[in-house]
Amino acid sequence: MISQSPETKITTQPPVRAPSSVPVDDAVLPFEIDALDLRGRLTRLGPQLDDILARHDYPPAVGKLLGEAIVLTTLLGSSLKFDGRFILQTRTDGPVSFLVVDFQAPDRLRAYARYDAARLKEGQTSGALLGKGHLAMTIDQGPDMSRYQGMVALDGGSLEDAAHEYFLRSEQIPTRVRLAVGEEFRGGESGRHHWRAGGMLLQFLPKSPERARQADLHPGDAPEGTVTHTVAEDDAWVEGQSLIGTVEDVELIDPGLSGERLLYRLFHERGVRVFAPLPLRAKCSCSREAVSSMLKSFDPKDRAEMVKDDKVVVTCEFCSSVYEFTPEEAGVE
Ligand SMILES: [Zn+2]
Repeated sequence: MISQSPETKITTQPPVRAPSSVPVDDAVLPFEIDALDLRGRLTRLGPQLDDILARHDYPPAVGKLLGEAIVLTTLLGSSLKFDGRFILQTRTDGPVSFLVVDFQAPDRLRAYARYDAARLKEGQTSGALLGKGHLAMTIDQGPDMSRYQGMVALDGGSLEDAAHEYFLRSEQIPTRVRLAVGEEFRGGESGRHHWRAGGMLLQFLPKSPERARQADLHPGDAPEGTVTHTVAEDDAWVEGQSLIGTVEDVELIDPGLSGERLLYRLFHERGVRVFAPLPLRAKCSCSREAVSSMLKSFDPKDRAEMVKDDKVVVTCEFCSSVYEFTPEEAGVE
């Protein structure tokens, strides 16, 4: 005899859409695995990421690193309410000394990186490109809300490592993040490559906080023989980590594999529920008016020094848009 478990709930709500076997680019797909108390988000980026990176002539290693930062930002920022803003920034001593990704809810993304071309070397990892410094994440939920800033040290590790450290120290939510960026080459377009990226965030959110206990990160510089802090992790979270650990970079960026299929591949044994995707687009917020009022806020002496060949030229660092003003328009006396 087959008896039905008392927890079985039959929901009458229709799904938002049927699971798509067609890949959807430039979107974040929220999901949950109820049986394991896991929640997550999956980002797939294609043309919109390519648009952001192609506006700058970044060397491939710098483009890849900035792509990782963009994916991480979409995973963290896409849970914000409607007019929120999430800014991820790094300041470090490596060849890529500064990068910033600005996400404006619900869907706008822009980003750029500063780097020293002379210090770039073949085969540098993301961690080596960044070097030492810090990663800051700022959440701005609108004019009536206080700003929140979280910081983590960067010490030669990857952005994935930094995200894990952030969640362990600041949020105390067991979290795993995967980030992947690649270049896709298509024939017939004179070798022009296209950037693609993907990422996944998985969090363990049990109803009882006791189950979410985690061990401290290993103290890298502790003397030999030091007893490290160990905690028996919850079986559900052990299983969740081992599942996300099997995701390969190629699966995250594969243009032929839909997000739904990837999630099904990973979590089908436990049952995964997928919610409506949140679309993303590359869109800068700069404008001629904004640049003009910025120029007017400068010291008159600084404005005068900006005149070259009888004009003032301002280039947006985010999107490389060029704004030209006559000295009169720029307020130069
Ligand atoms: Zn711009």
